[in-house]
Amino acid sequence: MLENLSDRLQSIFGGLRSKGRLTEDDINAAMREIRMALLEADVNFKVVKSFVARTKERCLTAEVLDSLTPAQNVIKVVLDELTRLLGETDSRLVLSSRIPNVIMLVGLQGSGKTTASAKLAYLLKQQNHNPLLVACDVYRPAAADQLQTLGDEMGVRVYRGDGQDPVRIAKEGVQDAIDNLRDVVIIDTAGRLHVDEQMMQEARDIKEATKPDQILMVVDAMTGQDVVNVASAFAEQVDFDGVIMSKMDGDARGGGALSIREVTGKPIKFISQGEKPDSLEEFHPDRMAKRILGMGDVVSLIESATKLQEEQMEAEQTERMMKAQLNLNDFLEMNKRVRKMGGISKLVSALPGGDKALSQGQVDTSALDRMENIIFSMTAEERLHPDILNGSRRARIARGAGVSVTEVNQVMKKFNETKKMLKQMMPAEDMSSGRKGKK
Ligand code: GDP
Repeated sequence: MLENLSDRLQSIFGGLRSKGRLTEDDINAAMREIRMALLEADVNFKVVKSFVARTKERCLTAEVLDSLTPAQNVIKVVLDELTRLLGETDSRLVLSSRIPNVIMLVGLQGSGKTTASAKLAYLLKQQNHNPLLVACDVYRPAAADQLQTLGDEMGVRVYRGDGQDPVRIAKEGVQDAIDNLRDVVIIDTAGRLHVDEQMMQEARDIKEATKPDQILMVVDAMTGQDVVNVASAFAEQVDFDGVIMSKMDGDARGGGALSIREVTGKPIKFISQGEKPDSLEEFHPDRMAKRILGMGDVVSLIESATKLQEEQMEAEQTERMMKAQLNLNDFLEMNKRVRKMGGISKLVSALPGGDKALSQGQVDTSALDRMENIIFSMTAEERLHPDILNGSRRARIARGAGVSVTEVNQVMKKFNETKKMLKQMMPAEDMSSGRKGKK
């Protein structure tokens, strides 16, 4: 991805570094080379023109030319401008507080919408969300099956409805999410080979029917220059909030990725670099700019290492749950996940009648705090082996947490019930992970 551009820019900078002092001519020559490198990477020519003009102006100042390390300063200016071109601020996915949150994907056929829908579901699942995939591409015969297969593999529910009317399927999909307690709905819509009125109308109708919290356009990085025209048409006719740039692992020259923000004003939110579900990355303009300029991307590396570690911990926890060997640390972790999803009140308010129950005080929203407080008063040994919690230990814990023994007993009762419930549920849930989402 963008390797050629990256190599070219690094060699231009190498030339500047070897010079020590830089003259105006040196800057002009370097800017001409940068211009060529960007055009060859298929960056939109208008974008190239304004990028080079801005960069040149900033480099031709005394501040840069007369500094002790002019080449370094030129590189810094290019880095700044490249970051600005890619979107400057982090444009990661932010869910609104509405439950279920609706994310609609649009784009041309073959751009990678279905794949991206599944990847997005995978990512949201990793973040402790409970997504639902809705198959609204009723024209490409294999699209719904493809989504179903991907959903089944990840244990994500897929809603297919009658497989005929995309607007109805989308609407029913949102209801299906409410009925089945899914907090994010991802709608995979139909694309065509080229921009046409019917596709745009259908996208507008689905938008009108489901009022998405955000619309993401999937753009194939291999499309080159045309990316910008297609994205502009979608921006005008449907409007969208951000871009998922797919197939960044291919030998795309990368021009689309560098042009889209400047031309459409829409930020890239994700890049997809492969066909596996975990190959969707949040897009960070500064890190991408550094990567292009060969400055490495340490932060992303650290993040993936942490993610791996977390995944391993979760896998171990799931294994203990499957064997119904839940301990109180796992119980704390479950609480943490409920909090991540917005706490008990958010979960309850998503249930039919939930708001009413909340307003009538029928739901105790501080239960999480009290439960954690009590578990924190236990020793490491007690948390790992709750069976040793006899009367005197419980009395000590109650004193430590400033609660009554009855409350400690209540937490233990809840814990034992959960453990029992998991024991009953696990084999069935295991078998149902391949279920069909069809009603
Ligand atoms: P849709 O018509 O927009 O739903 O497109 P699909 O999701 O079916 O994707 C079209 C093709 O591109 C499929 O063969 C995908 O496997 C492939 N594809 C999608 N995203 C990526 C990606 O990031 N990298 C690579 N190498 N292939 C991808």
